[in-house]
Amino acid sequence: MTAAPVVGIPRGLSFTQLKPVWEEFFGALGVPTLVSPPTSRAILEDGLRVSVSEACLPLKACLGHVASLIDKADLILVPRCVSLHRREYICPKFAGLPDVVRASFGRLPPLLVPEINLHNARRVPRMDTVAELLGVDPERVRRALVQALRAIRRDPSGSDGPLIAPEAAQSRTVVVISHPYLIHDRFLTMGLMGRLSAMGVRPVPMDTLDAARLRAAAVAPKPLFWSWGTEALGCACALARSGEADGVLFVTSFGCGVDSFVEAMAERRIRAAGIPYALITLDEHTAQAGLITRLEAFIDTLPDRRTHDRNVSAHGQCLYTDESASR
Ligand code: SF4
Repeated sequence: MTAAPVVGIPRGLSFTQLKPVWEEFFGALGVPTLVSPPTSRAILEDGLRVSVSEACLPLKACLGHVASLIDKADLILVPRCVSLHRREYICPKFAGLPDVVRASFGRLPPLLVPEINLHNARRVPRMDTVAELLGVDPERVRRALVQALRAIRRDPSGSDGPLIAPEAAQSRTVVVISHPYLIHDRFLTMGLMGRLSAMGVRPVPMDTLDAARLRAAAVAPKPLFWSWGTEALGCACALARSGEADGVLFVTSFGCGVDSFVEAMAERRIRAAGIPYALITLDEHTAQAGLITRLEAFIDTLPDRRTHDRNVSAHGQCLYTDESASR
């Protein structure tokens, strides 16, 4: 009997969100997996070597994760993620990732490319190529993926309590609006979350909040095209309404097309509510000293804004009216 092929899973882009799906999917099929190690300088440099400069930082890092698996895995999982919600899409870089990977490397093991497209229905097509590479019956593969995708279904939340769970320690709460694959990558963010904690604030990443409530809170003249954008905007709208955060940080990557307009919409709502706000843009050239200075300056502004910010504000609150905030 031949041993099952080892499937390499790059720890990048959709991995953060789909990790439970792949654990269940490959577990059900009895296929061994190998996840690439956390991002490091060497992994990022391998990604930079094959990336175009315009690519966003998470895509460059993801290519480095693929490179780290080339000599270690029999197959590499590079899903084609098109949509995770009805009538919405995710960033095209997710949908085009298998093509980018093929074009970026001269030598690759075969790629395992399941398509995830929940735009129109929760129908999962047959995956004959995936099944053939795994040596498993196609219908079994399809059923395993249908079952595993239930892990990302988000049932509507019935809760109307606080969005942010109260904490015994009365530290200031800063909500961090960012993509999960960026904010939870300690190397790419230079340990931003830990630095915030060390500076005495309680950082709350957006993806730990109730996604169904965030999606329901998004108010815009028209729906946003991108699922993540809906949640980011909903987060800003919900915080502006509830005032639960002492400050909001929007952490983005240079060159992110989705954030280029979602950030502006979120900022208007946060500033109109008088909540301190800062934007941190990361790329491979960002230096630790610059990041620390920006974080310290932001945190220094938190204590007094709510009580003493009665004059024309240097952070721009007065520039945003209720009317402009809804755009
Ligand atoms: S949403 Fe932005 S950060 Fe994420 S993959 Fe797309 S361009 Fe990159």
